[in-house]
Amino acid sequence: MKQSKHFALKSSFIPAVQQGSPSSPGHWFIFSGDQLLIKQSPSVVAAQNSFTPDTLGITLEFSMLFGHYDSIPCFLAAIDPEQSVASMSAVNLRTLFGVVDDDFFSLAGRALQILHHTREHIYCSRCATPLQDRKDELARVCPACDFISFPRVSPAVIMSVVKDEYILLGRGAHFTKDMYSTLAGFVEAGETLEETVAREIHEEANISVDQITYVTSQPWPFPHSVMIGYTARYREGEIKIDPKELEDARWFHYKDLPKLPSRITIARLLIDNFIASAKTKYDDKR
Ligand SMILES: [Zn+2]
Repeated sequence: MKQSKHFALKSSFIPAVQQGSPSSPGHWFIFSGDQLLIKQSPSVVAAQNSFTPDTLGITLEFSMLFGHYDSIPCFLAAIDPEQSVASMSAVNLRTLFGVVDDDFFSLAGRALQILHHTREHIYCSRCATPLQDRKDELARVCPACDFISFPRVSPAVIMSVVKDEYILLGRGAHFTKDMYSTLAGFVEAGETLEETVAREIHEEANISVDQITYVTSQPWPFPHSVMIGYTARYREGEIKIDPKELEDARWFHYKDLPKLPSRITIARLLIDNFIASAKTKYDDKR
């Protein structure tokens, strides 16, 4: 049985870096502050293709072409948040997660991360000269000292910890009511990803693991992470939570699971893999 899947676009995306023109047709990801302008439509990706800044009658502060999706140009743009746009809604990207087409979400997330990088890297952090966009790649460069700044990506690991028929799940104080998920944490400088997995599980729940195995990864643009998914096998220890990180953590039997994260998250993929594997191993064997 094949259990894992990968989070990849259904159609091809080829990155590019070019100036955008407000009259060019394509998929337009226009942000007002951190909010994305969308037309409500059953197929939102197609809908982002049904207007240009010129047809909306808006003035852009910034625009660029960041790639081609299925050969169609994809543009990123920003407007002054004071500017109101008739016929469009401004929405927080996070609220679209699991609601819109996955490819749309992925492209919009990519656009937002590029925009953040441009907005947050105005001056050289070494010599304070205004940075310029690099012509041939996604980067900002200092004309005085050649310092280069690339869009920041902060890796985080997320992992299922399995003890025979049980999985270790925890909940943070900010989770929706009664929901539990897999543990996760940011990679520290100098660590291998496997070391991060072992350290986070030990710090957050006092559990030691082995057989740490990579499963898949998922970009998480809030604001600039990539989640790297692992499974690990329980080795020893009694659960003792770090109250700064978690509100609760428990072993859950595969037939008696709590409320789980939505289907398109990597956390849910790891949990679903565990359920499928436990069913194969333990169903009908008693
Ligand atoms: Zn510099």
